[in-house]
Amino acid sequence: MSEKRDYYDVLGVERGADSEEIKKAYRRMALQHHPDRNPGDKKAEERFKDAAEAYSILGDPHKRAQYDQFGHQAFGQAGGYDGQRFTNMEDVFSAFGDVFGFGDIFGARRRSGPQPGRDLKIELDLTLEEIDSGVERTVALKRLERCITCSGSGAKPGTTVGACNTCGGRGQIHRNQGFFTMATTCPRCRGTGQVIESPCTTCKGAGATREKAEIKITIPPGIEEGVRLRVPGQGDAGDAGAPRGDLYCLVREIEHKIFQRTGADLICELPFSFTQLALGDKVEVPTLRGRADMTIPPGTQSGKVFRLRHQGLPRLDGPSRGDQLVRVFIEVPTKLGDRQKELLREFAELEAKRTGNKSFFEKIANYFSG
Ligand SMILES: [Zn+2]
Ligand SMILES: [Zn+2]
Repeated sequence: MSEKRDYYDVLGVERGADSEEIKKAYRRMALQHHPDRNPGDKKAEERFKDAAEAYSILGDPHKRAQYDQFGHQAFGQAGGYDGQRFTNMEDVFSAFGDVFGFGDIFGARRRSGPQPGRDLKIELDLTLEEIDSGVERTVALKRLERCITCSGSGAKPGTTVGACNTCGGRGQIHRNQGFFTMATTCPRCRGTGQVIESPCTTCKGAGATREKAEIKITIPPGIEEGVRLRVPGQGDAGDAGAPRGDLYCLVREIEHKIFQRTGADLICELPFSFTQLALGDKVEVPTLRGRADMTIPPGTQSGKVFRLRHQGLPRLDGPSRGDQLVRVFIEVPTKLGDRQKELLREFAELEAKRTGNKSFFEKIANYFSG
């Protein structure tokens, strides 16, 4: 490799030139030696690339400071970085497009403004009783809070945040893939364009710490399973000047041992004896909030559904409640005393006489014909 020219000489500026002068000088050089203006001119192309390399260092305050101190050696082998050597024209434009005023067409966008905090998600397991009455829940969770020590900057108090020299403060690195220029997030500064030299010891440079929080959540009566309840402003803290994220609570219904839910209605199946259904009865049945009276008329068939008005869950869209549906079924006794067996046999004989000793098949046929 030949002796490298001084970057200030390449751009033709004084060592004390400010960043605006350097930018102007580079723009002038780049336009002068632009390959479109000098077709086939290898020398012009080299000048064009030299100028881009020089600007990759002098255009970055951090790299420029190192170059001023150590010269080209600053970017030698020992842990330094090289002045960016460009192999083709697209690279030059994608790296410094903003100098020419067309950075956007290469996707070289800076991260815009302070970032809001992330949303958090939790699951809330609710019993039907809690859904019925509505409930206040206090949930404990961990979320990001802006670091108190460094006020979120991530830098140790009294130290400064410098521009990232891997991406030149752009937050993005450009690579050529065939005809396309790919912009990727800078791995060193993770897209912020800034690097913290002395990280805050409290948050280790993250600018935020994960803290315990207790959040009170008000769950309205009648909420449905699967609903995502939004609690605004209770997510992670954002950057300074940006809002917090929200907290989303996914409602899960804990299975109830008696009731199933469809919308605002509650359904249950309750066992009764043959005699209760045959002779009729007045019974008390369980509801979500206690008990309710229910009348079983004589001759009730197993499987019949009774509707208890307004014993269901509150409706979200109005002041009323759903109903409770009670499906009755016969529970056949498995243990019978001698006297019970005697009476049942007697009952069976009477029944047989009444139906004229018809076969089981005939009885079934009669049942279906009415
Ligand atoms: Zn901190
Ligand atoms: Zn970077």
